[in-house]
Amino acid sequence: MSEKVYRRGPFPVKFRCLEVLRVTPVTPHVVRITLGGEDLAGFQSEGADDHVKVLFPEPGKRRPVIPTMGPHGPVLAPGEKKPDSRDYTPRRFDAVAGELDLDFVLHGSGPASTWAAQAKPGDMLGVGGPRGSLFVSNDFDWYLLAGDETAIPAIARRLEELPAGARAIVFIEVANASEEQRFETRADVKLTWLHRDGAEAGTTNLLDAAIRALEFPPGDYFAWVSGESLAMRPIRDHLLNERGTKKSWVRVTGYWKRGFSDHIHDSHN
Ligand SMILES: Cc1cc2nc3c(=O)[nH]c(=O)nc-3n(C[C@H](O)[C@H](O)[C@H](O)COP(=O)(O)OP(=O)(O)OC[C@H]3O[C@@H](n4cnc5c(N)ncnc54)[C@H](O)[C@@H]3O)c2cc1C
Repeated sequence: MSEKVYRRGPFPVKFRCLEVLRVTPVTPHVVRITLGGEDLAGFQSEGADDHVKVLFPEPGKRRPVIPTMGPHGPVLAPGEKKPDSRDYTPRRFDAVAGELDLDFVLHGSGPASTWAAQAKPGDMLGVGGPRGSLFVSNDFDWYLLAGDETAIPAIARRLEELPAGARAIVFIEVANASEEQRFETRADVKLTWLHRDGAEAGTTNLLDAAIRALEFPPGDYFAWVSGESLAMRPIRDHLLNERGTKKSWVRVTGYWKRGFSDHIHDSHN
């Protein structure tokens, strides 16, 4: 395949029931949940911005309802209630250790954030997917990676996998300096943290302003941006219509939507 960006999949989806092995605070508002157990066998995640469907137990219950995969999609046993589910990025998967890390932003409400804030070893979580993976070539002249806290797992994975000599310009919006994280990378990375400094998540134009103000280096580039849905719109518009970036080399995705629960992610390009 000579394309520089393409989608792999859809892969057959398996729903797994995994056990919390560890709970590690990453920053004051991000917690890393390390999952394991026999059901993790065969898990694969090839793309930096892969996502899994995470299924949560009903409040007060330890085990989530886990559907089986039928020919037309997930199937529940009679009498079972569809579990709450949300999308999360496999931050790290180690097949040898049998561990999968998911990093949860603790933003205060919703089944995912609430579950993660209280999670402890021995708790159970359902995980389905990933259904597909985006392949992005390592030979772009440079990469633009940007997003808010929810995009950090995918950005961190991308920075970890970029080879020496690759060039990345990164903008990450967080609440304040205490939410900054450190990344491992061999690439040549110019990382700028943007602080909301008291503004609510999803109400600023910090990412858009930073991208608009950037003097784009020469050469071809892949642009990946994720965060609050409405905040993504002017960025998508700017990259596609004002910078004229090739459509297949841009991914701008709304990972959540302010004021809406269970937002289905949107990517119009
Ligand atoms: C492909 C993909 C990958 C993702 N990967 C991750 C990941 O690795 N880590 C991660 O933390 N999130 C990730 N997200 C975002 C996550 O799925 C959403 O934030 C989700 O809405 C959280 O569910 P919830 O049950 O906590 O809140 P919901 O019930 O969905 O929403 C409740 C309320 O909280 C608000 N809200 C939701 N998320 C946030 C937020 N981040 N900050 C402030 N307010 C919020 C909503 O607007 C709503 O008002 C990803 C999303 C997608 C589409």
